[in-house]
Amino acid sequence: MKPWYADGLRFECERCSACCRHEPGYVFLSAQDIRSLMEGLSLDFRSLLRNYCRVVDLGSHAVLSLRETKRYDCILWGEGGCTVYGHRPVQCRTYPFWAQVVDSAEDWNLEAASCPGIGKGRTRPRSEIESRLAERRASPPLMIERGVGLEDLDEDTLLGR
Ligand code: SF4
Ligand code: SF4
Repeated sequence: MKPWYADGLRFECERCSACCRHEPGYVFLSAQDIRSLMEGLSLDFRSLLRNYCRVVDLGSHAVLSLRETKRYDCILWGEGGCTVYGHRPVQCRTYPFWAQVVDSAEDWNLEAASCPGIGKGRTRPRSEIESRLAERRASPPLMIERGVGLEDLDEDTLLGR
């Protein structure tokens, strides 16, 4: 069955920075994100976790997220934009083509209230939308046992080395 977005969806980032700043939120991190951020920031595992990450308890399990400033800006936001753009996490790279956002036309239109780029610019073909969905599925957030702190996490175990 064809998805409702079979003819593509219009999206062009207007660089308003709303998805990076001003409101509380999470940027969940996968193993691939951790490796990429270590490379992009030239940091070792321990320094990356200590300076840029936090553990978020989701009830049944916990996950790793980027930290925020007191103003609810992403810790990796800088005046010129994302300071790790080429190494930004998969959650950021794949927005707004997330499963919950493209689940239905209604969900897509609801998301437009948070992102002025939705419904604007060029039409992204179905292949691009599905490639983003697949990218996110292939790089899920790391799951951590509840109660485990950042300092307890082992690099080799977490990154599957
Ligand atoms: S909210 Fe949308 S338009 Fe604004 S920076 Fe994020 S992706 Fe771009
Ligand atoms: S990592 Fe970059 S793109 Fe992602 S929320 Fe932070 S500043 Fe925005």
